[in-house]
Amino acid sequence: MSPINLAIVGVGKIVRDQHLPSIENNSDFKLIATASRHGTVDGIPAFTSIEAMLDAVPGIDAVSLCMPPQYRYEAAYKALEAGKHVFLEKPPGATLSEVADLEALAKTKHVSLFASWHSRYAPAIEAAKAFLAGTTIKSVHVIWKEDVRHWHPNQEWIWQAGGLGVFDPGINALSIVTHILPPLFLTGAVLEFPENRDSPIAADLQFKSGQGLAVHAEFDWRQTGKQSWDIVAETEAGQMVLSEGGSKLSVNGELTFTAPEAEYPSLYRRFAEIVKAGTSDVDLAPLRHVADAFMLGKRKFVEAFHD
Ligand code: NAP
Repeated sequence: MSPINLAIVGVGKIVRDQHLPSIENNSDFKLIATASRHGTVDGIPAFTSIEAMLDAVPGIDAVSLCMPPQYRYEAAYKALEAGKHVFLEKPPGATLSEVADLEALAKTKHVSLFASWHSRYAPAIEAAKAFLAGTTIKSVHVIWKEDVRHWHPNQEWIWQAGGLGVFDPGINALSIVTHILPPLFLTGAVLEFPENRDSPIAADLQFKSGQGLAVHAEFDWRQTGKQSWDIVAETEAGQMVLSEGGSKLSVNGELTFTAPEAEYPSLYRRFAEIVKAGTSDVDLAPLRHVADAFMLGKRKFVEAFHD
């Protein structure tokens, strides 16, 4: 089968770090164009808007949309309307309803829509899911604390409305939680907003399941020194720690599973799979929890944040 002719829109940090090497090493895809106001990829025809690119390159089969979430819907709509398969970076959009709209359009156009959640493909996720399925979970504590100055330098969009603030990394934790735990719902939240910003710098979230499982999540962008991306579950089979963003699984202090990181290669394998199968993969559960936090959460204003 000939490769899927792919275009990338929004050439920035994640495209250079992850998309380009993953596409390069996947024979199911051939990168044939980019659209970005400034970013380009060596040797690949570049356009400054998706409209110009779709007009000039009719052979595009699929597009990966990697711009900030607030600007993704317009591009996704144009691509789907033109009959292209669409890969959405996480979070899939700025609102739940716009993504539902894209899902319906993809169905009408008989093309695939992929709402990607890269953290679900971290090495130890399936091992953690299997471990939890085989025991009774008593409680879960999610700790996602990182230094925003280190990971998001000069990213203004992330602090603007729709940029999600600390939920930009926090939604990665929620994408894992919604994959390995039973269905949950939010019961309380406190969101901390810097007084000069429109999105939160920290969030404290309480969830429970219908069976009464309590899950506590702490997201904080003010962490310097050691960074924490851990999910700790107290279970009848002992304490499970899924650490380093899903890279390592330990039970009762002993490392039981780890493997090399390959999140984006796995995402592109999954995208090829759904394109070939003629299906879509759109799970809005992580984004729904974030929306619930904005709806139910108490707001606290904290010290202004300056880069
Ligand atoms: P980024 O570098 O700040 O943005 C990506 C590109 O989008 C920019 O280089 C810019 O390219 C374009 N862009 C920026 N503002 C735009 C606007 N107003 N309208 C249209 N295009 C705009 O961000 P990133 O870190 O790559 O993140 C992009 C997405 O990937 C986010 O949803 C993020 O959550 C996700 N992600 C990021 C990481 C990471 O480690 N950074 C990891 C996983 C997922 P032009 O100026 O050339 O148009």
